Amino acid sequence: MTLYLKDALFVDWQNLAISPTNLAVEAGPRGGIHPSADIPNKDALAPGDRILDCSGKVVTKSFGCGHHHIYSTLARGMPAPARIPENFPQILEYVWWHLDKRLDLEMIEASALASAIYCAKNGVTFVIDHHASPFAVKDSLETIARAFDQVGISHMLCYEISDRDGAEVREQGLAETDTFLSSGRPGHVGLHASFTVGDPLLKDAISLAEKHQTGLHIHVAEDRADQEQALATYGKRVVERLNEVGALNLSKSVFAHCIHLSPKEKELMHQSGAWVAQNVESNQNNNVGVTGYDHIAKQVMLGTDGMHCDMLRSAKAAFLVGQATEGIGFDTIYHRFRNIHRYIQAIGVDGDTDNNLVILDYDAPTDLTRDNFLGHFVFGIEARHVESVICQGRLLVENRQVVTVDEKEVLAHARAMGRKLWEKM
Ligand SMILES: [Zn+2]
Repeated sequence: MTLYLKDALFVDWQNLAISPTNLAVEAGPRGGIHPSADIPNKDALAPGDRILDCSGKVVTKSFGCGHHHIYSTLARGMPAPARIPENFPQILEYVWWHLDKRLDLEMIEASALASAIYCAKNGVTFVIDHHASPFAVKDSLETIARAFDQVGISHMLCYEISDRDGAEVREQGLAETDTFLSSGRPGHVGLHASFTVGDPLLKDAISLAEKHQTGLHIHVAEDRADQEQALATYGKRVVERLNEVGALNLSKSVFAHCIHLSPKEKELMHQSGAWVAQNVESNQNNNVGVTGYDHIAKQVMLGTDGMHCDMLRSAKAAFLVGQATEGIGFDTIYHRFRNIHRYIQAIGVDGDTDNNLVILDYDAPTDLTRDNFLGHFVFGIEARHVESVICQGRLLVENRQVVTVDEKEVLAHARAMGRKLWEKM
């Protein structure tokens, strides 16, 4: 099956070269693209082949989210918590740990399907997710994976294991992770955060990651409370604690946030080559602070922390916040926006090769060139320009309509699941 993109203005995501061309897009998890392809006559098309007219449209690599939480999808618009949180630990306790305990597999599936639709429509075709549902742990990851597969989004999942809900739930989290990773699905060993993970669990998680040759995916020093608990309980800071058990040596690990790090911790992160996921909108929303990332890690990617599924919006927010925190430039923010592709390639996971593309109906008021593309990226190109989306050579969105699932049906079911969840809260 081949998709032919006729008369596209193709932007190479790595060197920003812009060329008018036809593209032949191969199908499959490791498929490529062939620029300057001859477009066959309609009569000569093989079964399943398609030709899309891309004249006047910008075509480039689609996007990825480095830190997401599909489990928060049904939180949008929910009633305020019974007690109003006054700090970050209370936000977790009164809002998120109240919600995640009430999720069942049906709600998780609805959350994943709706979130996958939003990702697709925003041009996001690869998602690294961090999931929590303490009373529906078993089969939660496979449920999310199947929902993402149905919409057609590539993924790398994990269950955020912790000690916060007791030994039984912790053991279920370890078992679910082991089962999921044993099935051959790509994923991490997820941990919530240092302050909800005791030493025995931390060691078990490292062993499980080594067994499956993957890394950890964990929130790190998102709030000062994480550091205060680590110092009071273990006499060491969060990154020091993670480093002592070898977490920083697992090259596939993703460390989310990393806001409150000491100079020594920054040095440890920097030296290890660890991957960090930055989520500035969530950090602003939770009022946990912001930081510059240049001195923390060489390898920073962007996430949404579950707030939404629009990575172009995340990049713009990180650019604006980065003005104050690190005097960030167009090139750096674009590099971080695209780093997820480098991460996925480095760790050898399928589903993000060249046959992942967005077709943008970009109504530019000025010329678009290789030299000024980053100016258009920061100030111009938005999710509203995403017209069609291709993942693994498969068309997921055509003319702004999801074509792999019935969007209206999925969202109607999600709203029913939202009502069911809120009644339980
Ligand atoms: Zn998160």
